[in-house]
Amino acid sequence: MAIYDPDAEQMDREQLAQLQLERLQATLHRVYKNVKFYKKKFDALGFLPEDCRSLEDLTRLPFTTRQDLARAYPYEMFAVPLREVVRIHSSTGSPGNPIVMGYTARDLRNWAKLAARVLTAAGVDRDDVVQVTLSYGLLTSAFGLHYGVELLGASVIPTGPGATARQVQIMRDYRTTVLISTPGYALVIADMVEELGVDAKSLFLKVGLFAGEPWTEAQRAEIESRLFLKALDNYALSEAMGPGVAGECEEREGMHLNEDHFLAEIIDPASGEVLPPGSRGELVLTTITREATPLVRFRTGDLTRLDYAPCPCGRTTARLARIRGRTDQVVVVKGINIFPERVGQILAAFTGEEPVYQLVVGREGPLDYLEVRIEVREGLFFDKMTLQRQFLQKLAHKLAQGIGVSPRVKLVEPNSISRAEETSPLVVDLRN
Ligand SMILES: [Zn+2]
Repeated sequence: MAIYDPDAEQMDREQLAQLQLERLQATLHRVYKNVKFYKKKFDALGFLPEDCRSLEDLTRLPFTTRQDLARAYPYEMFAVPLREVVRIHSSTGSPGNPIVMGYTARDLRNWAKLAARVLTAAGVDRDDVVQVTLSYGLLTSAFGLHYGVELLGASVIPTGPGATARQVQIMRDYRTTVLISTPGYALVIADMVEELGVDAKSLFLKVGLFAGEPWTEAQRAEIESRLFLKALDNYALSEAMGPGVAGECEEREGMHLNEDHFLAEIIDPASGEVLPPGSRGELVLTTITREATPLVRFRTGDLTRLDYAPCPCGRTTARLARIRGRTDQVVVVKGINIFPERVGQILAAFTGEEPVYQLVVGREGPLDYLEVRIEVREGLFFDKMTLQRQFLQKLAHKLAQGIGVSPRVKLVEPNSISRAEETSPLVVDLRN
């Protein structure tokens, strides 16, 4: 099995830690000097970049959240002058402003190299014909892997998404060997293959790289059996870079994280405490080579686990377990997108001011349920149980009208949800 950059991907872990520390120190100096947001945060703690003497010192620094990035719209997070920026991408912040990411020429070169690593780990080489059905646009989706394919010397077909019948025709006629898409779109393609009466076995597909939405082993099995390819998972985080952050090798026991470019921590999403190696929790990433928009302790909102055990493929980098749910942002319940902030707005309209609340999503049998927990406070407290029941029923009805899903509403003790503002997850997803 080929490795694109053996020096980096098979680095001795002690040597890797040393490299990470040097790059972290350089990053902290850079953000302190060039990004007001970080200077303010560090100053408030009395922390100087030179105070970082070990990787553990990173835990003394505060987190960076998507809200922080949205507030920095458009260029407040940039650590280089605009004339050094050669590419700008943006993604939707939630709620409010988009999140804007810049790339210097070196950022783009690194991006292509890391994407080439992910592609090589998946078994792609220069003889392959790669069809990229992700979107080419403001989002980072298609771009990282596109340039990775070119760097490898394979052929890229930039179809972008949609026009599925044409995708299948191209796949057949151009003899596509590698499909890059979201897992959901791979199944749409599989449907179209059947609809057009094309024998999937007669296609030339060998590998698929899938990302962009949570998926399961059952979906993997379905994609593989219907498209006759090997389906691999990769992790694309647009705020950190885009696709290329991590990807599965052919062992498919987790996604190798490019640790010489990204420092990973796993935290308890509720308390913000760093969890011991091997624990499941929220992934926090620090970029240690990004020039244009470096991030210190960025809360990804993705729930996962890191495996540091050696991988039979020979890479020494830690592996990210399949992402299982998110701590924030949009949550999908019964196929309906729910924006947690929308729930807050409805609660505020109903009760006069926004209470402290939390969404809990779970599964009972085959069915998802949504529970909205609200902290009791004055005005939300009733001596008479009947009044309270009426109130909860009315509120559940309002919420159902506003978000499209009937939730259970539950009152909870004061301060049982509220903690430090940036560590309290708005959504707890108990599914999977
Ligand atoms: Zn491996």
